[in-house]
Amino acid sequence: MESTFECPSCRRLQLFEQPPCDDGHKAECPEWVCIVCGTALFVDVTLDVDVQVVTTRVA
Ligand SMILES: [Zn+2]
Ligand SMILES: [Zn+2]
Repeated sequence: MESTFECPSCRRLQLFEQPPCDDGHKAECPEWVCIVCGTALFVDVTLDVDVQVVTTRVA
């Protein structure tokens, strides 16, 4: 699976691919890697539906 995103390292639209996911996210895995420079990008796939706020609680 491939998609284009604005790469923060290349500073331009770049082709990204999803690396093999070990977390069981399948198609909804937020991790994308720039095929040119290898920068990992975490894309919230639900972002176009609504703005999602993720909070992490530290016990
Ligand atoms: Zn994943
Ligand atoms: Zn890049």
